[in-house]
Amino acid sequence: MAGTSASAQRGGADGATGGRPHVRGTAGPSLPAHSELVDARAGTLPLLLSAPHGGIEQPEGVPERTTGLRRLDGRTRLLAEQLVPRLELLLGGSPYVVLARFHRRYLDANRPPEVAFEHDGARPHYLAYHAALRSYVQEIRATFGGGLLLDLHGQSAAPEVIFRGTQNGVTTTELVQQWGAEALVGERSLFGQLAARGYQVFPANTPIGQPIEQPGWSGGYTVQRYGSHRRNGIDAIQVELGWDFRTKEYLPTLVEDLAQAIAGFYAAYGNAPPARTSANHPNRSYAV
Ligand SMILES: [Zn+2]
Repeated sequence: MAGTSASAQRGGADGATGGRPHVRGTAGPSLPAHSELVDARAGTLPLLLSAPHGGIEQPEGVPERTTGLRRLDGRTRLLAEQLVPRLELLLGGSPYVVLARFHRRYLDANRPPEVAFEHDGARPHYLAYHAALRSYVQEIRATFGGGLLLDLHGQSAAPEVIFRGTQNGVTTTELVQQWGAEALVGERSLFGQLAARGYQVFPANTPIGQPIEQPGWSGGYTVQRYGSHRRNGIDAIQVELGWDFRTKEYLPTLVEDLAQAIAGFYAAYGNAPPARTSANHPNRSYAV
């Protein structure tokens, strides 16, 4: 999965400059597939928020799955929805969003298709979810030369912890090649900024792989499929939010802290386009 030959062509810092995110003025193209159980909205920033496990609805005629994890990641869809206006204020543009409205007990969008669902009625919703992700990842690549996908999840096993899932840096290959490991585990990385706000994160922003990310939350199908270790991917991080941060009472605080952490990350790194495509991108100096 590491794809080193492709990623090896992406290295090199690119003379990024400061400033605000480049904002596109036009809406994205229409999506190749549609489902009323997938909320997909194009944005204007090189940032894509996804939440595959935050939905509660039943696709028509689709029975519950009999195998696999079926538990809801409570309030992760709400979290994404509430992050959008906050990020618009902080970053001056909109993130792209792809959010499942269907419940995981019918369909798991963070799994490969052969194990994501059991009933054919779930297939169109699965395909629509991933068509939206692919379309937006491509659009972000084409427009900005790179970007960040945050796949939002929840876990209750360690309710006071936020886990990082990047396959130990693999799905953020481009970010690390461009800026160094500190862009993933340093003080100004996303998880560094969360730690600075008092959150317990795992791994604790120690050198990548020391220790390894928590098995099971180390980055699933979505970040593996759309991460920047792939030529057509963007940097991708799975964020596993402990339950304590998703209670009704705490959620507004989490929204604010996560929005500030994302904005801080962009202020520090901003995803300058990689060297391999910069010649074709007039926006290469956009870097936040
Ligand atoms: Zn999940």
